[in-house]
Amino acid sequence: MEKMTVYADNAATTKPSAAAAETMMRYLTEDYGNPAAVCSMGRKAGRAVLAAREQTAKALGSRVDEVYFTSGGTESDNWAVKGAAELGAAQGKRHIITTAIEHHAVLRTCGYLEKHGFEVTYLMPDEYGRIAASQVEGAMRSDTCLVSVMAANNEVGTLEPVKEIAEVCRERKVLFHTDAVQAAGHIPIDFRELGADMLSVSGHKFHAPKGAGALLIRSGLILPNLMHGGSQQRGRRAGTENVPAIAALGEALTEAVSDMSEVNERLFRLTEELAERLLRTEGAHRNGHSRERLPGTLNISFDGVEGESLLLLLDMAGICASSGSACTSGSTDPSHVLLAMGVPSVRAKGSLRLSFSRYSTPEEFEYIAQAVPQVVERLKGMR
Ligand code: PLP
Repeated sequence: MEKMTVYADNAATTKPSAAAAETMMRYLTEDYGNPAAVCSMGRKAGRAVLAAREQTAKALGSRVDEVYFTSGGTESDNWAVKGAAELGAAQGKRHIITTAIEHHAVLRTCGYLEKHGFEVTYLMPDEYGRIAASQVEGAMRSDTCLVSVMAANNEVGTLEPVKEIAEVCRERKVLFHTDAVQAAGHIPIDFRELGADMLSVSGHKFHAPKGAGALLIRSGLILPNLMHGGSQQRGRRAGTENVPAIAALGEALTEAVSDMSEVNERLFRLTEELAERLLRTEGAHRNGHSRERLPGTLNISFDGVEGESLLLLLDMAGICASSGSACTSGSTDPSHVLLAMGVPSVRAKGSLRLSFSRYSTPEEFEYIAQAVPQVVERLKGMR
Protein backbone atom coordinates (compact mmCIF):
# COMPACT_ATOMS: atom_id res chain seq x y z
CA MET A 1 0.00 0.00 0.00
CA GLU A 2 1.57 3.29 -1.10
CA LYS A 3 1.69 5.95 1.59
CA MET A 4 -0.98 8.67 1.36
CA THR A 5 -1.76 11.77 3.38
CA VAL A 6 -5.33 11.57 4.63
CA TYR A 7 -7.08 14.27 6.64
CA ALA A 8 -9.73 12.58 8.78
CA ASP A 9 -10.10 15.17 11.53
CA ASN A 10 -12.83 17.35 10.08
CA ALA A 11 -14.77 17.50 13.35
CA ALA A 12 -11.76 19.38 14.76
CA THR A 13 -11.54 21.74 11.81
CA THR A 14 -12.00 21.74 8.05
CA LYS A 15 -10.08 22.93 5.04
CA PRO A 16 -11.44 26.28 3.85
CA SER A 17 -13.17 25.86 0.49
CA ALA A 18 -11.67 27.58 -2.57
CA ALA A 19 -14.57 30.06 -2.62
CA ALA A 20 -14.14 30.79 1.11
CA ALA A 21 -10.38 31.34 0.74
CA GLU A 22 -10.87 33.57 -2.30
CA THR A 23 -13.52 35.63 -0.53
CA MET A 24 -11.31 35.95 2.51
CA MET A 25 -8.36 37.18 0.42
CA ARG A 26 -10.55 39.79 -1.22
CA TYR A 27 -11.53 41.32 2.13
CA LEU A 28 -7.98 41.01 3.46
CA THR A 29 -6.15 42.58 0.54
CA GLU A 30 -8.61 44.75 -1.41
CA ASP A 31 -11.84 45.65 0.38
CA TYR A 32 -10.34 45.92 3.85
CA GLY A 33 -12.35 48.88 5.12
CA ASN A 34 -14.01 49.02 8.52
CA PRO A 35 -17.67 48.00 8.10
CA ALA A 36 -18.71 50.80 10.46
CA ALA A 37 -16.92 53.48 8.40
CA VAL A 38 -18.90 55.73 6.06
CA CYS A 39 -16.31 55.88 3.28
CA SER A 40 -16.77 53.69 0.19
CA MET A 41 -14.27 51.08 1.44
CA GLY A 42 -16.19 50.86 4.69
CA ARG A 43 -19.50 50.56 2.88
CA LYS A 44 -18.12 47.69 0.79
CA ALA A 45 -17.07 45.85 3.94
CA GLY A 46 -20.45 46.61 5.53
CA ARG A 47 -22.21 45.15 2.50
CA ALA A 48 -20.07 42.01 2.81
CA VAL A 49 -21.20 41.50 6.41
CA LEU A 50 -24.82 42.06 5.42
CA ALA A 51 -24.51 39.60 2.52
CA ALA A 52 -23.05 36.99 4.89
CA ARG A 53 -25.89 37.62 7.33
CA GLU A 54 -28.41 37.05 4.53
CA GLN A 55 -26.61 33.89 3.38
CA THR A 56 -26.50 32.54 6.96
CA ALA A 57 -30.18 33.28 7.55
CA LYS A 58 -31.14 31.60 4.27
CA ALA A 59 -29.01 28.51 4.94
CA LEU A 60 -30.25 28.06 8.51
CA GLY A 61 -33.89 29.12 8.14
CA SER A 62 -33.77 32.19 10.34
CA ARG A 63 -34.67 35.83 9.83
CA VAL A 64 -31.77 38.05 8.75
CA ASP A 65 -32.03 40.11 11.94
CA GLU A 66 -31.71 36.95 14.05
CA VAL A 67 -28.06 36.40 12.98
CA TYR A 68 -25.25 37.81 15.14
CA PHE A 69 -21.64 37.14 14.15
CA THR A 70 -19.21 36.11 16.87
CA SER A 71 -15.61 34.90 17.07
CA GLY A 72 -16.76 31.27 16.90
CA GLY A 73 -18.60 28.49 18.68
CA THR A 74 -17.07 29.14 22.08
CA GLU A 75 -18.19 32.78 22.16
CA SER A 76 -21.65 31.88 20.85
CA ASP A 77 -22.09 29.24 23.57
CA ASN A 78 -20.83 31.61 26.28
CA TRP A 79 -23.15 34.36 25.14
CA ALA A 80 -26.21 32.11 24.99
CA VAL A 81 -25.66 30.40 28.35
CA LYS A 82 -24.49 33.44 30.35
CA GLY A 83 -27.09 35.70 28.74
CA ALA A 84 -29.96 33.32 29.51
CA ALA A 85 -28.63 32.86 33.06
CA GLU A 86 -28.63 36.63 33.58
CA LEU A 87 -32.23 36.87 32.35
CA GLY A 88 -33.17 33.98 34.64
CA ALA A 89 -31.47 35.48 37.69
CA ALA A 90 -33.43 38.69 37.21
CA GLN A 91 -36.61 36.61 37.71
CA GLY A 92 -35.17 34.61 40.61
CA LYS A 93 -34.64 31.54 38.40
CA ARG A 94 -31.22 29.98 38.84
CA HIS A 95 -31.54 26.44 37.52
CA ILE A 96 -30.04 25.26 34.23
CA ILE A 97 -30.47 21.92 32.47
CA THR A 98 -27.76 20.67 30.14
CA THR A 99 -26.11 17.34 29.34
CA ALA A 100 -22.95 15.61 30.48
CA ILE A 101 -21.81 15.29 26.84
CA GLU A 102 -21.75 18.96 25.82
CA HIS A 103 -18.59 20.58 24.51
CA HIS A 104 -16.49 22.28 27.17
CA ALA A 105 -17.64 25.64 25.81
CA VAL A 106 -21.01 24.87 27.40
CA LEU A 107 -19.86 22.66 30.29
CA ARG A 108 -17.25 25.06 31.65
CA THR A 109 -19.57 28.02 31.22
CA CYS A 110 -22.11 26.12 33.34
CA GLY A 111 -19.34 25.33 35.84
CA TYR A 112 -18.57 29.05 36.05
CA LEU A 113 -22.23 29.82 36.69
CA GLU A 114 -22.36 27.17 39.44
CA LYS A 115 -19.70 29.19 41.23
CA HIS A 116 -22.01 32.18 40.96
CA GLY A 117 -25.09 30.72 42.58
CA PHE A 118 -26.67 28.69 39.76
CA GLU A 119 -27.64 25.04 40.02
CA VAL A 120 -26.98 22.88 36.98
CA THR A 121 -28.52 19.49 36.15
CA TYR A 122 -26.32 17.42 33.82
CA LEU A 123 -28.45 14.84 31.98
CA MET A 124 -26.81 11.50 31.24
CA PRO A 125 -27.13 10.00 27.73
CA ASP A 126 -27.92 6.39 26.86
CA GLU A 127 -25.19 4.06 25.60
CA TYR A 128 -25.42 5.59 22.11
CA GLY A 129 -25.04 9.15 23.33
CA ARG A 130 -28.75 10.04 23.05
CA ILE A 131 -30.63 12.30 25.42
CA ALA A 132 -34.43 11.95 25.47
CA ALA A 133 -36.84 14.89 25.54
CA SER A 134 -38.59 13.12 28.46
CA GLN A 135 -35.37 13.46 30.50
CA VAL A 136 -35.46 17.21 29.93
CA GLU A 137 -39.12 17.30 30.92
CA GLY A 138 -38.37 15.29 34.07
CA ALA A 139 -35.59 17.64 35.13
CA MET A 140 -37.65 20.83 34.71
CA ARG A 141 -38.25 22.91 37.84
CA SER A 142 -40.20 26.05 38.50
CA ASP A 143 -36.88 27.94 38.66
CA THR A 144 -35.39 26.51 35.43
CA CYS A 145 -34.25 29.38 33.23
CA LEU A 146 -32.38 27.57 30.45
CA VAL A 147 -32.02 24.23 28.70
CA SER A 148 -28.90 23.76 26.58
CA VAL A 149 -28.61 20.56 24.54
CA MET A 150 -26.31 20.14 21.55
CA ALA A 151 -27.70 19.26 18.12
CA ALA A 152 -24.91 16.78 17.35
CA ASN A 153 -22.11 15.50 19.53
CA ASN A 154 -18.58 16.39 18.45
CA GLU A 155 -16.92 13.18 19.60
CA VAL A 156 -19.31 10.43 18.54
CA GLY A 157 -21.53 12.28 16.05
CA THR A 158 -24.82 11.25 17.70
CA LEU A 159 -27.76 13.53 16.86
CA GLU A 160 -29.98 14.75 19.68
CA PRO A 161 -33.79 15.15 19.42
CA VAL A 162 -33.58 18.93 19.63
CA LYS A 163 -36.94 19.59 17.99
CA GLU A 164 -38.75 17.58 20.66
CA ILE A 165 -36.66 19.21 23.38
CA ALA A 166 -37.50 22.66 21.99
CA GLU A 167 -41.18 21.76 22.21
CA VAL A 168 -40.86 20.73 25.86
CA CYS A 169 -39.12 24.05 26.59
CA ARG A 170 -41.70 26.10 24.72
CA GLU A 171 -44.54 24.50 26.69
CA ARG A 172 -42.77 25.37 29.95
CA LYS A 173 -41.72 28.83 28.72
CA VAL A 174 -38.06 27.99 29.37
CA LEU A 175 -35.34 29.28 27.02
CA PHE A 176 -33.73 26.65 24.81
CA HIS A 177 -30.23 26.90 23.39
CA THR A 178 -28.67 24.36 21.07
CA ASP A 179 -24.97 24.12 20.26
CA ALA A 180 -25.19 23.32 16.55
CA VAL A 181 -21.47 23.78 15.92
CA GLN A 182 -21.10 20.23 14.52
CA ALA A 183 -24.51 20.19 12.88
CA ALA A 184 -24.64 23.47 10.94
CA GLY A 185 -23.51 22.95 7.36
CA HIS A 186 -23.68 19.18 7.85
CA ILE A 187 -27.34 18.34 8.39
CA PRO A 188 -30.43 20.38 7.48
CA ILE A 189 -31.26 23.07 10.05
CA ASP A 190 -34.31 25.29 10.04
CA PHE A 191 -34.09 27.63 13.03
CA ARG A 192 -37.71 28.76 12.84
CA GLU A 193 -39.10 25.24 12.43
CA LEU A 194 -36.80 23.90 15.15
CA GLY A 195 -38.21 26.37 17.63
CA ALA A 196 -34.97 27.01 19.54
CA ASP A 197 -34.38 30.43 21.11
CA MET A 198 -30.63 30.41 20.45
CA LEU A 199 -28.39 28.37 18.17
CA SER A 200 -24.57 28.37 18.01
CA VAL A 201 -22.59 28.00 14.80
CA SER A 202 -18.87 27.96 13.99
CA GLY A 203 -17.45 28.65 10.51
CA HIS A 204 -14.34 26.51 10.66
CA LYS A 205 -16.42 23.35 10.99
CA PHE A 206 -17.89 23.80 7.49
CA HIS A 207 -14.98 24.96 5.33
CA ALA A 208 -14.80 28.60 6.39
CA PRO A 209 -11.73 29.93 8.26
CA LYS A 210 -11.30 29.83 12.03
CA GLY A 211 -12.32 32.81 14.14
CA ALA A 212 -15.86 33.49 12.97
CA GLY A 213 -19.15 31.99 14.04
CA ALA A 214 -22.68 33.07 14.73
CA LEU A 215 -25.33 32.99 17.38
CA LEU A 216 -28.89 32.95 16.10
CA ILE A 217 -31.16 34.68 18.59
CA ARG A 218 -34.92 34.37 18.16
CA SER A 219 -36.39 37.72 17.32
CA GLY A 220 -38.05 39.23 20.38
CA LEU A 221 -35.55 37.70 22.79
CA ILE A 222 -33.38 40.47 24.22
CA LEU A 223 -30.32 38.60 25.37
CA PRO A 224 -27.93 40.63 27.56
CA ASN A 225 -24.64 41.44 25.80
CA LEU A 226 -21.54 39.34 26.36
CA MET A 227 -19.24 41.85 24.65
CA HIS A 228 -19.50 45.49 25.64
CA GLY A 229 -18.06 48.32 23.59
CA GLY A 230 -18.97 49.80 20.22
CA SER A 231 -22.41 49.68 18.70
CA GLN A 232 -21.67 47.08 16.04
CA GLN A 233 -24.37 44.55 15.14
CA ARG A 234 -27.16 46.82 16.37
CA GLY A 235 -25.44 47.34 19.69
CA ARG A 236 -25.73 43.71 20.69
CA ARG A 237 -22.25 42.37 19.94
CA ALA A 238 -19.51 44.94 20.27
CA GLY A 239 -16.26 44.69 18.35
CA THR A 240 -15.22 45.31 14.75
CA GLU A 241 -16.49 42.41 12.70
CA ASN A 242 -13.95 39.93 11.30
CA VAL A 243 -15.06 40.81 7.78
CA PRO A 244 -12.85 38.39 5.78
CA ALA A 245 -13.84 35.38 7.93
CA ILE A 246 -17.50 36.40 8.13
CA ALA A 247 -17.78 36.88 4.36
CA ALA A 248 -16.10 33.50 3.87
CA LEU A 249 -18.49 31.91 6.40
CA GLY A 250 -21.46 33.08 4.33
CA GLU A 251 -19.94 31.62 1.15
CA ALA A 252 -18.99 28.31 2.77
CA LEU A 253 -22.39 27.83 4.40
CA THR A 254 -24.14 28.53 1.10
CA GLU A 255 -21.93 25.94 -0.59
CA ALA A 256 -22.53 23.44 2.23
CA VAL A 257 -26.31 23.53 1.93
CA SER A 258 -26.37 23.64 -1.89
CA ASP A 259 -25.62 19.91 -2.32
CA MET A 260 -25.98 18.67 1.25
CA SER A 261 -28.20 15.66 0.56
CA GLU A 262 -25.88 14.26 -2.16
CA VAL A 263 -22.77 14.78 -0.04
CA ASN A 264 -24.45 13.24 2.99
CA GLU A 265 -25.72 10.20 1.15
CA ARG A 266 -22.17 9.49 -0.07
CA LEU A 267 -20.48 10.19 3.26
CA PHE A 268 -22.96 8.13 5.25
CA ARG A 269 -22.43 5.13 2.96
CA LEU A 270 -18.63 5.43 2.95
CA THR A 271 -18.39 5.82 6.74
CA GLU A 272 -20.78 2.89 7.27
CA GLU A 273 -18.70 0.65 5.00
CA LEU A 274 -15.56 1.76 6.82
CA ALA A 275 -17.17 1.08 10.19
CA GLU A 276 -18.12 -2.43 9.10
CA ARG A 277 -14.56 -3.17 8.05
CA LEU A 278 -12.92 -1.68 11.14
CA LEU A 279 -15.33 -3.47 13.46
CA ARG A 280 -14.03 -6.79 12.11
CA THR A 281 -10.81 -6.10 14.07
CA GLU A 282 -10.81 -8.12 17.29
CA GLY A 283 -11.70 -5.97 20.31
CA ALA A 284 -13.21 -3.14 18.21
CA HIS A 285 -16.35 -1.39 19.52
CA ARG A 286 -18.39 1.34 17.95
CA ASN A 287 -19.13 4.43 20.06
CA GLY A 288 -22.23 6.40 19.14
CA HIS A 289 -25.40 5.81 17.19
CA SER A 290 -25.11 3.97 13.87
CA ARG A 291 -28.11 5.71 12.23
CA GLU A 292 -28.93 8.88 14.20
CA ARG A 293 -25.54 10.40 13.53
CA LEU A 294 -23.62 12.96 11.54
CA PRO A 295 -22.90 11.48 8.11
CA GLY A 296 -19.13 11.97 8.37
CA THR A 297 -18.27 11.12 11.97
CA LEU A 298 -17.20 7.71 13.24
CA ASN A 299 -15.88 6.77 16.69
CA ILE A 300 -14.40 3.33 17.41
CA SER A 301 -12.54 1.96 20.44
CA PHE A 302 -9.96 -0.80 20.24
CA ASP A 303 -9.46 -2.92 23.35
CA GLY A 304 -5.89 -3.12 24.54
CA VAL A 305 -4.81 -0.08 22.54
CA GLU A 306 -3.94 3.33 23.92
CA GLY A 307 -5.49 6.19 21.91
CA GLU A 308 -2.44 8.44 21.94
CA SER A 309 -0.15 5.68 20.58
CA LEU A 310 -2.74 4.83 17.96
CA LEU A 311 -2.85 8.45 16.81
CA LEU A 312 0.93 8.67 16.69
CA LEU A 313 1.32 5.57 14.52
CA LEU A 314 -1.57 6.63 12.29
CA ASP A 315 0.09 10.00 11.88
CA MET A 316 3.29 8.23 10.81
CA ALA A 317 1.17 6.34 8.28
CA GLY A 318 -0.09 9.72 6.96
CA ILE A 319 -3.51 9.69 8.65
CA CYS A 320 -4.55 12.72 10.67
CA ALA A 321 -7.29 11.70 13.13
CA SER A 322 -8.22 12.36 16.72
CA SER A 323 -8.93 10.47 19.90
CA GLY A 324 -11.66 12.79 21.12
CA SER A 325 -12.31 16.49 20.94
CA ALA A 326 -9.32 18.57 19.81
CA CYS A 327 -9.58 20.79 22.85
CA THR A 328 -8.74 17.88 25.15
CA SER A 329 -6.06 16.28 22.99
CA GLY A 330 -2.72 16.41 24.65
CA SER A 331 -4.37 15.16 27.81
CA THR A 332 -4.60 11.41 28.29
CA ASP A 333 -7.78 11.60 30.35
CA PRO A 334 -10.54 9.48 28.84
CA SER A 335 -13.25 11.44 27.05
CA HIS A 336 -16.03 12.79 29.28
CA VAL A 337 -18.48 11.95 26.50
CA LEU A 338 -17.54 8.28 26.32
CA LEU A 339 -17.50 7.95 30.11
CA ALA A 340 -20.98 9.50 30.32
CA MET A 341 -22.17 6.95 27.73
CA GLY A 342 -21.00 4.19 30.06
CA VAL A 343 -17.90 3.20 28.06
CA PRO A 344 -15.37 1.72 30.52
CA SER A 345 -12.39 3.99 31.18
CA VAL A 346 -9.77 1.70 29.57
CA ARG A 347 -11.84 1.33 26.46
CA ALA A 348 -12.51 5.07 26.32
CA LYS A 349 -8.74 5.60 26.33
CA GLY A 350 -8.44 3.50 23.18
CA SER A 351 -10.90 5.52 21.13
CA LEU A 352 -10.37 6.82 17.63
CA ARG A 353 -12.47 9.56 16.04
CA LEU A 354 -12.42 9.61 12.25
CA SER A 355 -14.29 12.55 10.75
CA PHE A 356 -14.70 13.16 7.05
CA SER A 357 -15.80 15.98 4.78
CA ARG A 358 -17.18 16.68 1.33
CA TYR A 359 -13.58 16.49 0.10
CA SER A 360 -12.90 12.98 1.45
CA THR A 361 -12.37 10.46 -1.37
CA PRO A 362 -13.17 6.71 -1.62
CA GLU A 363 -9.39 6.12 -1.96
CA GLU A 364 -8.86 7.79 1.41
CA PHE A 365 -11.51 5.59 3.03
CA GLU A 366 -9.85 2.52 1.51
CA TYR A 367 -6.44 3.61 2.79
CA ILE A 368 -7.82 4.03 6.33
CA ALA A 369 -9.67 0.70 6.17
CA GLN A 370 -6.36 -1.00 5.44
CA ALA A 371 -4.04 1.03 7.65
CA VAL A 372 -6.00 1.12 10.93
CA PRO A 373 -6.22 -2.68 11.52
CA GLN A 374 -2.49 -2.99 10.76
CA VAL A 375 -1.60 -0.26 13.25
CA VAL A 376 -3.92 -1.74 15.89
CA GLU A 377 -2.34 -5.20 15.49
CA ARG A 378 1.13 -3.69 15.71
CA LEU A 379 0.25 -1.90 18.95
CA LYS A 380 -1.28 -5.03 20.44
CA GLY A 381 1.95 -6.88 19.58
CA MET A 382 3.97 -4.24 21.46
CA ARG A 383 2.18 -4.85 24.78
N1 PLP B 1 -19.19 23.24 20.37
C1 PLP B 1 -18.89 22.11 19.73
C2 PLP B 1 -19.89 21.00 19.69
C3 PLP B 1 -17.64 21.96 19.11
O1 PLP B 1 -17.35 20.82 18.48
C4 PLP B 1 -16.72 23.04 19.17
C5 PLP B 1 -15.37 22.90 18.59
O2 PLP B 1 -14.81 21.82 18.53
C6 PLP B 1 -17.10 24.21 19.84
C7 PLP B 1 -18.35 24.28 20.44
C8 PLP B 1 -16.17 25.39 19.92
O3 PLP B 1 -16.14 26.05 18.67
P1 PLP B 1 -14.95 27.05 18.28
O4 PLP B 1 -13.75 26.19 18.01
O5 PLP B 1 -15.44 27.74 17.06
O6 PLP B 1 -14.75 27.97 19.42
